Amino acid sequence: MSIFTKIITGEIPSYKVAENEDFIAFLDINPNAKGHTLVVPKKEENKIFDLSVAEYTKLMAFSYKVAKALEKAVPCLRVGMSVIGLEVPHVHVHLVPTNKMADMQFTEKVQLSKEEFSALAETIAKTFNKNETLD
Ligand code: 5GP
Repeated sequence: MSIFTKIITGEIPSYKVAENEDFIAFLDINPNAKGHTLVVPKKEENKIFDLSVAEYTKLMAFSYKVAKALEKAVPCLRVGMSVIGLEVPHVHVHLVPTNKMADMQFTEKVQLSKEEFSALAETIAKTFNKNETLD
């Protein structure tokens, strides 16, 4: 069972920003930048291109909505998107509020307190819930 499945089942905690029947989005615990979010299918699959086209398309549509909320909730030049999976073998889309190229390089990290993580997740979740019906 992946660490992300443990987050999905509630076995380990996360700072959740969005959820529906098929996907969950929560803050990355070791963020490149403030608001760095992971969008994860609840069905545990290792590699993104092992998803069916339909599952992949649904993941991208949900990531789009999370990115729109992030863009509104976290000041940044733009939201960057990346898929890697070398550390956690459970499909996830990285969404990173980005101000400089280094924010997408997974080398510089920012430190946030529990309070900062909680407040950030709450702000993004509120924006997501307001936006959710918009396509
Ligand atoms: P990747 O697999 O794409 O190389 O990176 C995995 C990402 O998951 C990393 O950015 C890492 O910080 C994040 N991560 C690893 N374990 C946890 C965890 O337990 N909780 C959260 N929220 N993020 C995690």
